[in-house]
Amino acid sequence: MKTGVIGLGAMGAGMANNLHKAGHLHALWNRTRSKAEDLAGKTNVLLCDSPEQLAGECELIIVCVSKDEDVLEMVNKIASTVSKDAIVVDTSTVSSDTAKQAADILQKTNAHFLDCPVSGGSEGAVNGTLAMMVGGDEAILDRARDTLDAITKSIVHIGPTGSGQACKAVNQIICAGLYETVAEALSFGKAAGLDMEKVVDVVSGGAAANWVLDNRSSFMLNNNYPPGFKVNLHLKDLNICQQMAKDMGIENMPITEHTMHDYEKLIEQGFGEEDVSSVFRLKQS
Ligand code: NAP
Repeated sequence: MKTGVIGLGAMGAGMANNLHKAGHLHALWNRTRSKAEDLAGKTNVLLCDSPEQLAGECELIIVCVSKDEDVLEMVNKIASTVSKDAIVVDTSTVSSDTAKQAADILQKTNAHFLDCPVSGGSEGAVNGTLAMMVGGDEAILDRARDTLDAITKSIVHIGPTGSGQACKAVNQIICAGLYETVAEALSFGKAAGLDMEKVVDVVSGGAAANWVLDNRSSFMLNNNYPPGFKVNLHLKDLNICQQMAKDMGIENMPITEHTMHDYEKLIEQGFGEEDVSSVFRLKQS
C-alpha cells in the first residue's frame, strides 16, 4: 500500500525508516520541514508540503504527533483530500474520545480510521518491534496488517474505535509505576554502596525484570536523560488516564497521582523535554 507518515519525531522517524526498508514508504510530512529532509533524502520518497498533499497521495496514512488537539488538526486537514477507502492509522497516544472524533470526521469522507497507539519506546520504533493495540473495524485492520508488520512485533485488535487508546492508558499506568519503582530501587542500591552494574545485571534476570530496568537504568545511573519518551508526553497520557478513571467512578489511583506530581516537579525544574527516566533526579538523597 502507498504509505505516508505524518510526524517524524522520536517515534515517527523510526517507523518511517522501517516502512521504507519494507518497500511501503511513499511520502513524508513533518511540521518542521528541516527535520524531514534527511530522511526524505535517504529514502528518496516524496517530501510533501502539507498533510493535505500527503493524504491525496497515499492509501495508508500513519499519523504520529503529540497531543489530542494535534491529532484532530491533522485529521481535519487529511479529510479535505483523502481518497475514498484510504486508511488513517493514528499511532499517537491520545484519549478514546479523540479517536472517536477522528473516526467520525473521516467517516464523512468514506475513509477509515484506526486508533493504533504503540508501546516499546523509541528503540521499538527504530527496531520495528512496537506492540500495537488497535481500535476500529478489524476488517480494515486486516487490509493494513502487512504494512503495519514492518513497524511492529505484535498487533492486537482490542475492539471498537477508542479501545486501542483505552488499552494504551492501561499500558501508561503500568509504565508510571515501573519508572517510579526502578528509580526508587536504584537510588536505594546506590545509597547502600552496591556495584549497581552488578545489581542491574542480576536483578534483570529475576522476578523484577522489566523494560525500564533493561532500557533506562543506564540513563539513571549516568544521570543523563536524552529523549526517549518525554516527561511532558507521559504527563499528558496520565492526565488522560486520570480523566478516564474519574469518568468510570474510580477515585483512587495513588501511583498515577504520585507520578504526575513528580512529573509536574520535573517540568517546574525545566526537565519536561527529558526522558521520563529523569524521575530518578527526584529520588536521590
Ligand atoms: P516527539 O519526538 O516530541 O515528536 C512529536 C512529533 O509531532 C514531531 O514530529 C512534531 O513536529 C509533531 N507535532 C506535534 N504537534 C504537531 C502539530 N500540531 N501539527 C503537526 N505536527 C505536530 O514525540 P514522540 O516521542 O515521537 O511521540 C509522538 C506520539 O507518540 C505522542 O503521542 C507520544 O505520547 C506517543 N508515544 C511516544 C513514545 C516514546 O517512547 N517516545 C512511545 C509510544 C508512544 P515538529 O518536528 O515540527 O515539532
